[in-house]
Amino acid sequence: MREPDAREPATTGEQVLRTKVAIIGAGPAGLLLGQLLRTYGIDNIILERHTADYVLGRIRAGLLEEGTVGLLDEVGAGARAHHEGLVHDGIELAFGGNRHRIDMKSSTGKTVMIYGQTEVTLDLMNARKAAGFTTVYEADDVTPLDFETEQPRVTYVKDGTTHEIACDFIAGCDGFHGISRASVRLPAIDTFERVYPFGWLGILSETPPVSNELIYSNHARGFALCTMRSMHRSRYYVQCPLDDHIDQWPDDRFWDELKRRLDQKAADSLVTGPSIEKSIAPLRSFVAEPMRFGRMFLAGDAAHIVPPTGAKGLNLAASDAHYLACALREYYDEKSSAGIDDYSRKALARVWKAVRFSWWMTSMLHKFPDTGTIGARIQLAELDYVTSSKAAMTSLAENYVGLPF
Ligand SMILES: Cc1cc2nc3c(=O)[nH]c(=O)nc-3n(C[C@H](O)[C@H](O)[C@H](O)COP(=O)(O)OP(=O)(O)OC[C@H]3O[C@@H](n4cnc5c(N)ncnc54)[C@H](O)[C@@H]3O)c2cc1C
Repeated sequence: MREPDAREPATTGEQVLRTKVAIIGAGPAGLLLGQLLRTYGIDNIILERHTADYVLGRIRAGLLEEGTVGLLDEVGAGARAHHEGLVHDGIELAFGGNRHRIDMKSSTGKTVMIYGQTEVTLDLMNARKAAGFTTVYEADDVTPLDFETEQPRVTYVKDGTTHEIACDFIAGCDGFHGISRASVRLPAIDTFERVYPFGWLGILSETPPVSNELIYSNHARGFALCTMRSMHRSRYYVQCPLDDHIDQWPDDRFWDELKRRLDQKAADSLVTGPSIEKSIAPLRSFVAEPMRFGRMFLAGDAAHIVPPTGAKGLNLAASDAHYLACALREYYDEKSSAGIDDYSRKALARVWKAVRFSWWMTSMLHKFPDTGTIGARIQLAELDYVTSSKAAMTSLAENYVGLPF
């Protein structure tokens, strides 16, 4: 049972709602935060601009750190992940025609789990539904207001009617293009950004994965990644020019290019098939500082973006949600602001390490247009070092499985 709110409970169907935490965005950050707060007896409402089906249809991340799985367990949404997720002990780095395994489990004692973001989202949505907490889908013109005062509020339009939520706090979990970060006025916010000079062309296919573990390939033609969502559904990526369009990449061209960037054994055993999803994503490193503005907090992609090479985006959204939920629990249970005062520092310390790791993996594995042949040779030397030095392998593995939080 959750504790009764000192203020009026949240209700729907009226023009003014009241809750403790108004969460903007029903992606992984918002949904996980909502469930953690529910576990701690803290009322919250989520406002999402799209439909639930639209959110569930977005094919994105697929690799969970143990800490992320632990958070799903904490909110009672981890059962299906344990049943259907694939636990991986290592990854393979391919370069110079050979594959080299990094054994994460033997060097860190930890593993990662392959379980799609769509499944994580579905499990969290179902848990929220079972708990009877409110999510307003198709909420238009969501606007966080007065968050620098003691009485923050959020307005939104639903079915042509404007509603207002009065709350104690606003959690901006609305992704990179959301309204929360955009509502903060300069000079209260600093941003740091690098846009990489290439993108990832990805396809999803109903085919068995080429290998039991992920293959990250550094090749003269460009980077490639072989990953999966299950033992019968594969996800493959090739580095491509930023201005390419998916129309230029019929399936046959994609499979041919992927094979060229893999070692012979992988290329020979690759099972191809029609793509069921195909998209091109740009690669970016981005951090906004701080992650708190009065009574509004940012979490997940709303505050930071990493290139997917290190598989950190979804996992950072989860650790932010954890830090923020703990801070808010301290505020309500212990009447202490220490946690919320420290949220930004604590979250950013982990964020920057993931930004560094993702940048490093990206730099080591991709073909850069501006670094020439010396850049390519330095990459090969680094890959040789990383796969032959126990210390270097452990460092990669420790970051890949996720730093503690
Ligand atoms: C195309 C793509 C591919 C990716 N691939 C990978 C990958 O392979 N591996 C990996 O680790 N990471 C990947 N990522 C990153 C990972 O998916 C994100 O880090 C993760 O989704 C972050 O979760 P989030 O909840 O912070 O943000 P999001 O998932 O973006 O969720 C934000 C939510 O807020 C909603 N919203 C936005 N604006 C508003 C508004 N004004 N009002 C109300 N709601 C709003 C959005 O509709 C969305 O549902 C990928 C991201 C993208 C975009």
